[in-house]
Amino acid sequence: MPETGIFAAGTLMPVSAPPIPDGALLVRDGRLSAVGSLADIRRENPDVPVRHFPGSTIIPGAVNAHAHLGFRTKDAPPGGTFSGWLTKLIERLPEKEAWTAEAARDSAREAVEAGTTLMAESSPYGECLPQLVESGMAGTVYAEFFPGDYDGAEPVEIVGAIIARMQEMNEGLPGRVHARVSVHSPYTVDPESSRIAARRTRELGWTLAYHLSESPEEVEFVREGTGGLADIFGSNGWGGAGVSPVRYAEGIEILAPQTIAAHLATGVGEEEIEILVRSGVAAAHCPRSNENLGCGVSPVPRMMQGGVRVGMGTDGLWSSPSMNLFEETMVAVRLHGLDGATALRLATLEGARVLGAERETGSLEPGKWADFAVVEVAPHGSDAALAVLDGAAGGGVVATVAGGDVIYNRAEA
Ligand SMILES: [Zn+2]
Repeated sequence: MPETGIFAAGTLMPVSAPPIPDGALLVRDGRLSAVGSLADIRRENPDVPVRHFPGSTIIPGAVNAHAHLGFRTKDAPPGGTFSGWLTKLIERLPEKEAWTAEAARDSAREAVEAGTTLMAESSPYGECLPQLVESGMAGTVYAEFFPGDYDGAEPVEIVGAIIARMQEMNEGLPGRVHARVSVHSPYTVDPESSRIAARRTRELGWTLAYHLSESPEEVEFVREGTGGLADIFGSNGWGGAGVSPVRYAEGIEILAPQTIAAHLATGVGEEEIEILVRSGVAAAHCPRSNENLGCGVSPVPRMMQGGVRVGMGTDGLWSSPSMNLFEETMVAVRLHGLDGATALRLATLEGARVLGAERETGSLEPGKWADFAVVEVAPHGSDAALAVLDGAAGGGVVATVAGGDVIYNRAEA
């Protein structure tokens, strides 16, 4: 159990409340016991040790709403088109096995050093769970399952098997780490398995991860049953539904408040946004991956105006240059013209809302977990929050605290 301590900085940005100059957090039993001015908190807790970062800003930890840990930068397949990239990825799955665990450890470390305290990770059959646990971050591993691996079993048996496997994997995990299920995508999981997985996980009160409306090839596959993804998965026999991926997903009853739809980058028009709003589904925005793989720009401002919960995701290092969620968010700032306060909120509290964790984390409020990052930047300029976010994006995180545990401290690294 972490010790009781006070963390103080030149500025505290709680996100849920205005910035506090010379602010401090009283951390007790892993949670924020008080949030306020250093002077007040010290007066009321004179014997509690203080860690002081005078020229820095404390912000909530980054929430990565869609990531894959098991990739590495150095030998990423070429981008350009989604189906070209995916073809190479699939070809290299056998050789990748040798280094996936090491890549996952490195990816998680990179995320922690960039201020991440909560991560939604997707990996085949949840293979990156050990590295998420080891990192000290809170989070959920979403196990992707591929019906083709189950030797012609019925959808109900396939879904039963993956859920049973996740129930087993949940045994003995730290309290803030969970194993859940991902329906990988409309082109890899058949409609019936998708529908049953969505229904069964909803019954369990589990969140569900899904890749949706990511690429032009996915739009073509779902609508026409042709194109680059049909060349890879054509024998699956369920493409060509005659509708957009979002409408298809609505038809198989996978869009619901528990579902986190990653990407929504291509083929999301007014009709689709209306469906997303009505269903209550949450979105994870991964703009760097989308750009790299020729997947367009997600209509994030329109989705947010409609009330869709939107968080940020880095995706994995084979499609994206880093695991730094704040850096990802700066790209969203440029793409959508967001102000600093909105962007910082997307990277933290909105991400927590996407994952259904907003009562426990995402902002600096008494009672929530002590999940925060210390950024070695003092607010400055006309948009103070943007200056701090930009500092965090550019390597300015000097300490990361998750559940009251210091999981990164540059001074000791
Ligand atoms: Zn992904």
